[in-house]
Amino acid sequence: MCGVLGILGEYSLRGARDLLLLLAHRGQDASGLLWVEDRQVTTSRSMGSPARIIVPDKVSQFILGSTRYPTTGRRVTSEEDLETFVGPFHRGRVSLTHNGNVTNVKVLSSKRYDCDTEFLAERLSNNINSNDGSLQKAFKDLESEIDGAFSVVGVLDDKLFAYRDSRGFKPLVFGRSGDTTIVASESTVLDMAGVPMERDVYPGELLIFDTGGVMESYSILQNALHTHCFFEYVYFAHPAATIENQLVYDVRFRLGRALGQTFIRMNLDPPDYIVPVPDTSRPAAQAMAEMLQVPIREIILKNRYLGRTFILRSQEERDSMASNKYIYLDGKIKGKNILVVDDSIVRGTTARKIVADLKKRGAEKVYFAVTCPPQTHACYYGIDIATDRELIASTSSIQEIADFVQADALIYQETSTLENAIGIKDLCLACLDGKYPTEHARKIRDKVQELGTTHNERDYERELSE
Ligand code: SF4
Repeated sequence: MCGVLGILGEYSLRGARDLLLLLAHRGQDASGLLWVEDRQVTTSRSMGSPARIIVPDKVSQFILGSTRYPTTGRRVTSEEDLETFVGPFHRGRVSLTHNGNVTNVKVLSSKRYDCDTEFLAERLSNNINSNDGSLQKAFKDLESEIDGAFSVVGVLDDKLFAYRDSRGFKPLVFGRSGDTTIVASESTVLDMAGVPMERDVYPGELLIFDTGGVMESYSILQNALHTHCFFEYVYFAHPAATIENQLVYDVRFRLGRALGQTFIRMNLDPPDYIVPVPDTSRPAAQAMAEMLQVPIREIILKNRYLGRTFILRSQEERDSMASNKYIYLDGKIKGKNILVVDDSIVRGTTARKIVADLKKRGAEKVYFAVTCPPQTHACYYGIDIATDRELIASTSSIQEIADFVQADALIYQETSTLENAIGIKDLCLACLDGKYPTEHARKIRDKVQELGTTHNERDYERELSE
């Protein structure tokens, strides 16, 4: 995933850092800010949260920000890594920050990149040079070369620009107020800055903003098929964010209603409580509680000082964090039937631990409801599920998963109800059905099917022999 931010207008660097904090849930590996003054570029990066980025107490006309989630390259493990692993990057005349994942870097370049933002910045800079300085033509070339997802914000000379790939995989929104223009992965950033959201950047649209308040819009490539990442609505985005005119909170509420209907059809013993796994599944739990007329109880509390298990790389890290991630309200559990609601089951580690913890504390029955359908395929577009075999649903039936997590019943969302809840049909569902919308990703898929996924490297980072 990753979070991106671009600001045009005299804006405080510390204020920009505060805005970037609103995108910290999209990447907790590392973060960076870049600012331009009189065409002089300065960057400041930190491991972990944007709160740790050191910036001077001054304003800048152009600011870019990035929160990093490691889909390309390993995790940042030292200060020395920051220079090559963490955006934004400045190459040639271009400064760039990027959300998404480019699947064919190895096909296009023999150079090893730690971060595909650097690759994109170099490629775009070269394309601008080979097109007599035209940003529009440079993006047209980029679209014909790049396979994958890329929502970018950048600075070229005295202009801020934003581009969203022609499939619209990853969100990108913008707003303007007075002399200030803000482009960001999520609308919550605009809310906090007091800048009204104007709209999403359209798939295949290049926006160029100048310091005089003029915005130019260019249609670089019209793709008949948009494939917005459904997982943004289920997991990634903040519930207060609006993506493609859908409030994420409302989508999650509708996902809960659909699960409530499924629960009723299953004729199980009624639960005493609905219990959300914090934080993403709260709206769905509220909807289920209303539908089933069962009280909602926040029995599972999050240890706030730990990050998201999903974005940890090694199994040891995930196991260790899963065992410390939640604190339980002991007195509310004994003898109760509990319906737990979570956003997804990826490896099954967290679900199994929650069920075991509740049963250890005396729960009579634990049902487990999941707002996302079973994920069976790796994502090549920006989530670090590197291979299918990391997903428990790729090799196990729903009953086998229920047995593994030791739930008394496992209630999964269906793909049709997921689509209805999101309210738009042009979605990427590749991690549910293996139908990858881009050509190179399909080649990777074919190769994986041929060779299996026993490799340590991520599938999309393996060399593809044509
Ligand atoms: S494969 Fe899944 S997670 Fe990846 S972009 Fe598509 S919908 Fe999103």
